[in-house]
Amino acid sequence: MNPAEKRPSTAFTTIDYDRKGKQVGFIMIPHSPNDDAWGATRIPVAVVANGKGPTVIIEGGNHGDEYEGPIAITELIRDLDPGSIQGRLILLPSINAPAAMGGQRVSPIDGLNFNRTFPGDPHGSITQQIAAYVMDVLFPMGDAFLDLHSGGSSLDLLPSAIVEPSTDPELRRKNIEVAKAFDAPLTVVIDNMGDPRTATAAACRSGLVTTGTEMAGGGTVRPEALAICRRGVTNVLAHLGVLPAEQKSPPRNDGKLLELPGADAHVFATADGIFEPFHAHGREVKKGEAAGRIHCTWDPTKAPETVHYRADGILYGLRQPGRVRPGNCCAVVAAPYSGQL
Ligand SMILES: [Zn+2]
Repeated sequence: MNPAEKRPSTAFTTIDYDRKGKQVGFIMIPHSPNDDAWGATRIPVAVVANGKGPTVIIEGGNHGDEYEGPIAITELIRDLDPGSIQGRLILLPSINAPAAMGGQRVSPIDGLNFNRTFPGDPHGSITQQIAAYVMDVLFPMGDAFLDLHSGGSSLDLLPSAIVEPSTDPELRRKNIEVAKAFDAPLTVVIDNMGDPRTATAAACRSGLVTTGTEMAGGGTVRPEALAICRRGVTNVLAHLGVLPAEQKSPPRNDGKLLELPGADAHVFATADGIFEPFHAHGREVKKGEAAGRIHCTWDPTKAPETVHYRADGILYGLRQPGRVRPGNCCAVVAAPYSGQL
């Protein structure tokens, strides 16, 4: 049984997923706040379909302060000639539209992080309803899923394609292949410390070939990251047979896989203050080596507190605002992949 039949939703669309050609419209989530008794929250969606081929769902704006993916998707919506593809694209440039419009990681409506709400709830808050719609209506139509993230306002990451590590060996192999096909400078296996509530984890459980990205961040748009993102999406669509194979760019990545080694990937702040990083992105670092210091500039009697890397690898990400509180993520280390291929 289709999960949507078990979990009926009041959401509806202004487009027909089964029609050929290009349609641009909205997923409408009925919403009844103080100023709009019978209104709806609109989630933009486009469908481009032609001939025979897989259905690929491309999502951006999962977090509302990550911009390269959403820009690349809106360009695809405007520029793609339906006659140039084989299959169907379901394009979602701002899946958490309230967060995207607010330029915020989480939804200003219900305070929820979309990427921690799967499988969602069709009778829950707006963010939970969007996740339930993706889970129950969109994933059953899909063969493959791309979830385009960047580091957001609080992290600056090296541009990378992300492997979702499925427990199914066949799907894991396909996920690695598609992430490598994206051909970002790095390919990193990230399991979000095993959290099952992410969009990519949910897509894998639904059997979709899944990949993601982390494109720089810092709450801004990096021209070089945007170029990597545009090129990577085209590469993946060529890899999946939606675009002609000759549109795939000559590979630049060395094919090596990295991973975030669980919680040890993260350097967490231990004090309230200002984080001074000791190193730049991409530097090789060692477990136990000093990563930086936290200065309490409003109490000069306190000595700075040193924080240390907890894994060998390369410096993959740094916190963007200098201001930190205990528990904030100051730095992220990526290590060579040690899991199964
Ligand atoms: Zn994100």
